[in-house]
Amino acid sequence: MTDSKVALLIVDLQEDFCPPNGSLAVSGGREIVPIINGLLASPIFHVKVATKDWHPADHISFATNHPEPNNRPFESFAKIVNPHNPSESYETRLWPVHCVQDSSGANLIPELDIARVDKVIEKGQDKRVEMYSAFCSPFENPPFARSELPGYLKDNAVGKVYVVGLAMDYCVKATAEDAVKEGFTTFVVEDATKAVDPGEGWTRSKAEMESKGIRFVSAEDIKG
Ligand SMILES: [Zn+2]
Repeated sequence: MTDSKVALLIVDLQEDFCPPNGSLAVSGGREIVPIINGLLASPIFHVKVATKDWHPADHISFATNHPEPNNRPFESFAKIVNPHNPSESYETRLWPVHCVQDSSGANLIPELDIARVDKVIEKGQDKRVEMYSAFCSPFENPPFARSELPGYLKDNAVGKVYVVGLAMDYCVKATAEDAVKEGFTTFVVEDATKAVDPGEGWTRSKAEMESKGIRFVSAEDIKG
């Protein structure tokens, strides 16, 4: 890829993913904000994007939208089928209600230096599919629910992306993996993200991402 601009992708830094009141709070979620604000102020990023999980109330990822007994948040799974291809499907974990469109829980947290963000991109609006990645749903045949993100990065000649935000083992991971698939040189800033499962989930997710060519750096590495 000849595109040479550098983008910072801030994934889902929203109230529902943060303590103290988030319905799906990631432990330590707010602690990464000073580091992310430092990155936002850094001259190395040409393009700065924040994403928002942005679900309708009847979204398929909410445990409450499924019948008993397979509707326990964090524990139950549901089958999701490509709306355009019944033979493509996958199992997904169910979650508490979170990031409902226009709810306070869907707000970006106010500590984030939003004035430095160039573009906010919403994802997960289609009630029929889960969408951890800020690029697209997991469906490939055909692709389904692509967001504005890939087009926006390409329009801005971005070749390299640094992914931060929440949560490392879900939406940060899926976003970074799709960034690689889309042809971007991809980094995760490891002190600017937190995992739902900071133990085994972090370790496994990091190994999986590294096996796909994603590199882990610290915020200090970038500034240096
Ligand atoms: Zn969600």
